[in-house]
Parts: sequence; C-alpha cells; structure tokens
Amino acid sequence: LIEIEDLHKAFGDVHVLKGNSLSIAEGEVAVLIGPSGSGKSTLLRCINQLEEPTAGRVRIAGVTQGFAEEPLADGRWQRLSEKEIAAQRAKIGMVFQRFNLFPHLTALGNVMEAPVQVLGRPAAQAKEQALELLDRVGLLDRAEHYPSELSGGQQQRVAIARALAMEPELMLFDEPTSALDPELVAEVLAVLKDLASGGMTMVVVTHEMGFAREVADQVVFMADGRIVEQGPPAEIIDHPRSERLKGFLDSVL
Ligand code: ATP
Ligand code: MG
Repeated sequence: LIEIEDLHKAFGDVHVLKGNSLSIAEGEVAVLIGPSGSGKSTLLRCINQLEEPTAGRVRIAGVTQGFAEEPLADGRWQRLSEKEIAAQRAKIGMVFQRFNLFPHLTALGNVMEAPVQVLGRPAAQAKEQALELLDRVGLLDRAEHYPSELSGGQQQRVAIARALAMEPELMLFDEPTSALDPELVAEVLAVLKDLASGGMTMVVVTHEMGFAREVADQVVFMADGRIVEQGPPAEIIDHPRSERLKGFLDSVL
C-alpha cells in the first residue's frame, strides 16, 4: 500500500532523511524505532505531506503523493495543487504524541467535526458514525465530555476515533503513548492492537517494544536519517545485527 522510494529530506543544509526506501503492504503494521533526531517524525510527515520531500517519492495505493504521475517534457515533476494535496492527505489518519483535540468541542463534537466540515456529511449521519467510533475506542459513555474532563489516555482514544472518522486508508501514529502516564499507556495500545487486527495499515513510531513484538509485521530501525535494519520483530528486537541497534535496544528495553 505504501511505497517509499529513495526519500530525501533536507531542511536548509541539514540532511535529515538520507535516501530511504520502504514498502508496507496493505493491512501491515510497521513499527518505526530509533534514537531522538534520527528522522522518524520527518519520515511520517513526508508520508502524509506535512513535509515535501527534497527528492524521492512516496506512493500510496499506486498514487504518487504530491506530484503528477508523469514528468513534464523537461523531466521535472509537476507539483499538485494544495487542494489536490489536501485530498490525498485526507485519506491518511494521523495521531500525534500530544492529543490535539479541539478544547471547545465535546468528544463527540471532535469526532464529528471533520466528516461534517470537510466531507460535508449530514450531522445526523456523522453523529451516528462518531458514536460507533467512540464505542469502538471504549468511550461511548464519555461522548458529551470536553477534553479537559478526560484523562490523557481517553483524550488520545478520542483523537484516534477522530482520525478514523475520515475513513482513512492508513493510519500514522507518532509516539501516541509517550506523553501518557504509565498506567494509561495500555488502554491506548489496546485500541491500536484492535485496529491492527481489524486490518488497518499502520505506521507507528513508538518505544513500546512489547507492542512492537506482539503487533508489528515489520520493525524499522532508523539512525541518523537512514534505515539501518528492518525485518520481523523476532529478528530486529531479539537478534539485532548492528552495534547501533544493539545500543538503542539496550537503552529502551
Ligand atoms: P524524536 O525521537 O526526538 O521525536 P525523530 O526521530 O522523530 O526524533 P525528527 O523529528 O524527524 O526526529 O527530526 C530529525 C532531525 O530533523 C532533527 O535533527 C531535527 O532537528 C530536524 N528537523 C526536524 N524538523 C525540522 C524543521 N522543520 N526544520 C529544521 N530541522 C528540522
Ligand atoms: Mg519524533
């Protein structure tokens, strides 16, 4: 479903992604690990076009992201319009470390917002779908609560329901549990596991190695802007080959 080909990203003269290629099949869960500053968030942000790659490309379901399918006569690739890019991005759900819910909307209001405002769904239909999603993340009884009345774990589950309301083809998670108190991590990981077993294609940046071991189809280790090792969790977590990965695992396990 996701094909990343020789992706580079530089901010000025800081080369953050140094040519990475990665394939993620439909229904697969890829867990992205690596030290701080290795480029994990930047890679996710390139997948959903919050960042424009400096070179290389991302294809999702066969569609090149951000650029026309064919190059111009002079060989340059034509950039899509902002509107076309927004339409591509709408198919990708993203959940960040900080649950950035709208504070003035209830849990239900947060989940209904984009389907009504962006997709133009009738409110009644959006509400029905939102309640189903809140039920799925175990928060039906909190539908009328505001974010300030919810725990961090509950807020993050609302954020997941909100992303799912757009019926994304894939979901990106950037350290979804690292801002949570330890006792709240499990309830959010349970929602991710449920999504994975429902067949959602997911890319998850996390340091939760238990989750990676249990749920990931592939674990991708990045260091210094490059994918250093990748493979099934039993290989990457239990039989690391490079010294960098061994050192990283010692620091998180
Ligand atoms: P962490 O584990 O701390 O979240 P990360 O692996 O997600 O780290 P990134 O956030 O992708 O790392 O950042 C990789 C590098 O790119 C860092 O050196 C960072 O300072 C740099 N960087 C990221 N975004 C920008 C930006 N908008 N402008 C300049 N440099 C940036
Ligand atoms: Mg990051």
